[in-house]
Amino acid sequence: MPGSEPSRFEHWGFGTSAAHAGEHLVTGEFQPTSTPIYNASGYFMPSFDALDEVFDGRRPGYFYSRNANPTVAALESAVSTLEGAADTVAFASGMAAIHAAFVAAGLRPGERVVASRDCYGLTRTLLTSHFAEQGVQVQFVDLTDASEAAEAMATRPRVVYLETISNPLLKILNVPALAAAARAAGALTVVDNTFPSPYLARPIQWGADIVVHSATKYLGGHGDVTGGTASTADPELGGRLRRQAVVLGSVLGPNEAWLCHRGLKTLPLRMKQQCQNASVLAGWLSGHSQVARVYYPGLGCHPGHVLAAEMFGGRFGAMVSFDLADPRRVVARQFMDALELIAPAPTLGDLRSLVMYPPLASHRGLTPAQRAEVGIGDGLIRLSVGIEDAPDIIDDVRRGLAACGV
Ligand SMILES: *Cc1c(COP(=O)(O)O)cnc(C)c1O
Repeated sequence: MPGSEPSRFEHWGFGTSAAHAGEHLVTGEFQPTSTPIYNASGYFMPSFDALDEVFDGRRPGYFYSRNANPTVAALESAVSTLEGAADTVAFASGMAAIHAAFVAAGLRPGERVVASRDCYGLTRTLLTSHFAEQGVQVQFVDLTDASEAAEAMATRPRVVYLETISNPLLKILNVPALAAAARAAGALTVVDNTFPSPYLARPIQWGADIVVHSATKYLGGHGDVTGGTASTADPELGGRLRRQAVVLGSVLGPNEAWLCHRGLKTLPLRMKQQCQNASVLAGWLSGHSQVARVYYPGLGCHPGHVLAAEMFGGRFGAMVSFDLADPRRVVARQFMDALELIAPAPTLGDLRSLVMYPPLASHRGLTPAQRAEVGIGDGLIRLSVGIEDAPDIIDDVRRGLAACGV
């Protein structure tokens, strides 16, 4: 059944754990080298008593796939190992995981949530439409600003919600400090750890209560699956998360779980290469005359550089954003349309490099004035750097920049 890995994983490094975690779950007459995809909606019960015992939790086993499925459980177990969690629940998407995390953390009518102002667009919508309409008080705060954060904590929220690295400006949030402040204020902290992945950050170690992922991004890593996870060190919170998945039916299917788990095994290899490529690319962009500003936490000029270096152990992620020197939409179009290797796609974290234009996608719903207020101009380009060879990525960006303003 879902849960934590055996203790041997505690002694292994991240790469070893990623390659092996979860796979111990299948035993029996023969043991396949990979967890099978259990395309079963339910499970035969060997006897009347077994039925009673399995439902009761007195006997390990599976009875119905909305409650638990061995392929999904293997993924959940692996994510628990990599995040240092006691329990993980897989969901049909990142948004389903985020919704479940809010409910499990106790967000109810009359309660208050303080969320990072730069959070993912649809998370913002979830809070402002879905939860606010039910009577939840929602406040967005610049959580990189210590005094704004302290003021918000003083309002005694039920939940504090933040993203380790913000989108698309890649601001770094001080998760250990914010989680401690939230705890002192009586709030639970929910962290969206999608951008750094557990390769860079394991927020549970820093006191986060629930860590969520869009597994669609780095965990899956191949652009072939939609999924989400929510992990916690608290078994009771884990139970509440699972109840959300089971009752709302927002569970991940076994085929999707298998793809996520397959992707997860190479997370450390992919991230290593992607972080390295991103760092080289950010340095190259910084010296380019057609680039006004580069947003990458690995650069010394980034306001979160020192914090990121401390939190992520000298690695800085694989997302790079930059402002074109000529910040007009028509120039951004010239840049993007000239690219041959880097594909325009409103997603990220794939092993291939992707480009995204926030004013047309994630921040489309804001007016130009609202975008300007959060620092997103018409010259902003966001790159999700892939595993390709760095010189090829740079060549393509050079091609894009050469097409600007001609
Ligand atoms: C993509 C994304 C989500 C939403 O995940 P889905 O799998 O698309 O539902 C949430 N948070 C962040 C940071 C994301 O990048």
